[in-house]
This record gives sequence, C-alpha cells and structure tokens, in this order.
Amino acid sequence: MRSLTIRRSVAVLLGASLAAGFAGAVRAQQPDNWLTRLFQPPPLSSVPASSDAAQWSGQSGASGSPLMTADAIRSAAAEFGSCLEGLWPEAERRGISRANFERFTAGLTPDLSIMDKLDAQPEFTKAPWDYLDLLVSDDRIGRGRELLAQYAPTFAAVERAYSVDRYILAAIWGVESDYGTQGGDRPVIRSTATLACVGRRRDFFRGEFLATLEILQRGDVPPDRLVGSWAGAFGPTQFMPTTFKRYAVDFDGDGHRDVVDSVPDVIASTANNLKLDGWVSGETWGYEVALPRDFNYLFADSSRQMMVRQWQSLGVRRADGRAFPRPEDRAFLLLPAGARGPAFLMLKNFSVIMKYNPAEAYALAIGHLADRMRGGAPFVQGWPRDERVLTLDERYQMQELLARRGFAIGEPDGLIGPRSRLAIRDFQASIGQIPDGFASSDVLDRLRQP
Ligand code: CA
Repeated sequence: MRSLTIRRSVAVLLGASLAAGFAGAVRAQQPDNWLTRLFQPPPLSSVPASSDAAQWSGQSGASGSPLMTADAIRSAAAEFGSCLEGLWPEAERRGISRANFERFTAGLTPDLSIMDKLDAQPEFTKAPWDYLDLLVSDDRIGRGRELLAQYAPTFAAVERAYSVDRYILAAIWGVESDYGTQGGDRPVIRSTATLACVGRRRDFFRGEFLATLEILQRGDVPPDRLVGSWAGAFGPTQFMPTTFKRYAVDFDGDGHRDVVDSVPDVIASTANNLKLDGWVSGETWGYEVALPRDFNYLFADSSRQMMVRQWQSLGVRRADGRAFPRPEDRAFLLLPAGARGPAFLMLKNFSVIMKYNPAEAYALAIGHLADRMRGGAPFVQGWPRDERVLTLDERYQMQELLARRGFAIGEPDGLIGPRSRLAIRDFQASIGQIPDGFASSDVLDRLRQP
C-alpha cells in the first residue's frame, strides 16, 4: 500500500485553488493507517500556482518527528548532494546509465517548501457535504460530460479493453486534477529527490525518486512535462512514479506511456489501475439507502459486511425506491454524517476506488460524480448542514473526555478512527442517544457535562 500520513494544515479553505489539485497531493500521502481515518476526507490543499514562490517556513514540523525539526531539515538539506550520490548504486542496479543519472540530477536543489506541507497538522476537517458540493458541482458534471463526448471512441475502446466504467474514469480525471487543469507544476524529480533525502518519509520516497529516474530514462514522459504535486503525483489522474511503473500503459501505441499528455494513455492507465485493483465489471460502487426507524446503528460499521438481502431483511431499502439488482452482493453500511445524514450500502467497487485514494469521502465523491455524469439524480436524503465540524483541538478533547470516563480510545491523536467511534457509540448508548459513532459537537457538549 502506498502510504504517507495526511497531516497538514490547509491554508486555503474556500476559493479557486482548493477546488482542484488537492487529490494528487493527497493521493501520494495516504495515511500510515488510513483505516483510522474513515471519515476524514482528504484535506483540500492547494498546489501553489507557482512553486517558485513557495518558501519553506523554516519552522520545525508539527509531527514531533526528530527528522522534522528545523535543524534536522537544514542539515539534511546541506547533505543533499551526497545523499543523491548515495542513491546512485541503486539507480545503477535499475539500469539507469551514469550519463542519465548525472543529466537528470544536474543542478538539483532541495525544494524545502515541501517540508511544511509534509508535516503540518490537520487544522480542520472538511464536512462531507462541503467536500461533495465542491467536487460534484454542476460545472464539474458538465465538463465531464463534454470530455466523455469528445473522447467517446477512446472511452469505448478503454471500456472494451479493461471493463472499467468510463464514468468512473472521467470522475477520477475530474476530481484528481479538475480535468487536467490543476495538477501541480513542481518537477517530479526535484520533489521526490527532496523527499528522498530530507524529512521523515525518506524510505518511501527513495523508491519514488528511483522510479522517476526510470521514467525519465525510458522517455515515457519528457522531463519538462514530468511535473506535479509536491508529493510527486503527476498527470491528469495523478500517478505516483511507482504506481506509474505498476499500472501505466501505452494505449495509443506510440511507444510511450504518456500519462500526462496522451488522453488514451491517461484513460487506459487509470482503467488498468482500477482493473488490477479488483474492479468488478458492470457493477456500481454502492447505493444510497433509507433505514427503518428502529434501526440498530451498531450495524453501520465498515467491518460488518453482509449480503444485500440480509440488509434488506433488516429493513434497509434503496432511497429512490428501486430494487437492489443483485441481492447476493456483499456490502457494508456507511453513514458519512451519522444518523442525521444519508446512508449508503457500499459494494466491492467502493473499496477499489478507495485503493486509488484511501478516503471514504473521496470514493463517495468519485462514485457520485460518475453517477451524475451518467444522468443520475442527487442524493435523496439531506445532509445535517447545521452540524459543525470539530476542530483538531476539539477532537483531542473529545478523546480525552472519553478516556476520562473510562472508554478505551488508545492514545488521543485527534483522529476519529474505529476505536474512537466505538467509544463514542458506547457513550451515546450510555446516555440514551442513537449510537451512530458520529463525532458531533452535541456529543462533545454532552461529554463536557459532569
Ligand atoms: Ca502512448
């Protein structure tokens, strides 16, 4: 699994730059333990319009890692040249020529502005409804339909070759880079070299740096086009260098796997990625469902997989009143905003989308954007838009208050994961509330009461 913690502050909350360009950064920084972050959408970050303007703050990072103090960053940066040279033997083992190694690393300096992004704490979590509003907008639906029409023969050929739904592919294109308009402009070789030599994710990024050298040597993507997010994700669907190695294909037959500028290569490589991750052909990702009044919310847990007909026997129905097409499918029940928000039964393909970018809100946005482009309706049930999203401090406080009352939550970390949600459920049950495990401000208020 690709891994990197989502931990950073987000400077821009609302505005042009957050609507796009974030997913690529996020895709490369999949959390060390993303299962603990079930309902935290990827933070909406901004890829700077110009990376030249980005400067390192010079501050120690917020992770507490000894590799992220300002002094450690400065001294690692001072050793940057010898660090890169230390990677030569492994590059040579991978077949990189000395001439190419020198050519691609000539004049490289570390981009320390990345350190702030790598290590900032999440200052807030975006509410799922705000996240979906942003990504499944009329504008993004409309432009997706235009691209589906413009490249209809390519999408059809890719569907035939990989059996992956074209609308899902278009949705990934739309969410990851706003259809290629926001993918970041940092040279991938510089970003991955920086992260391979400086900071707390060096082991992970050595592999990304070496894979970048391989891409450059093969000439799949020209050096001046191999630019992307601060974490090294590039192209309209934001491949990391190592995921490129695993999944990229040359679909237009020109001899290059160009996932930056060749639309056929972009669409087919993304389809190949989903196919190899287990995409189930001809099936959807999930269904919006309505729950009966007396529903036992302890069933709403991603670890509880049951057949659709078993869910039906518990009174779960599709929100639009239609029948479930395949009652034998296995599904789990997801309540992104607790009992007051919409509910969903999630199928295998939802998990496949999460492999592309492991956040449930991301996968829900991809699935819903795809359905809307196909002509589907908005969700039937409303979101609890009056609900306020807890700040990081409030989430810490919630965990500490739960622990003080004897609920097992482990070490407070500000992340509402499965253990925290279980503790919230237990607390809710103890005070006669619906045990949906949702970290609401109401639960926090109740915890603060003696
Ligand atoms: Ca090609």
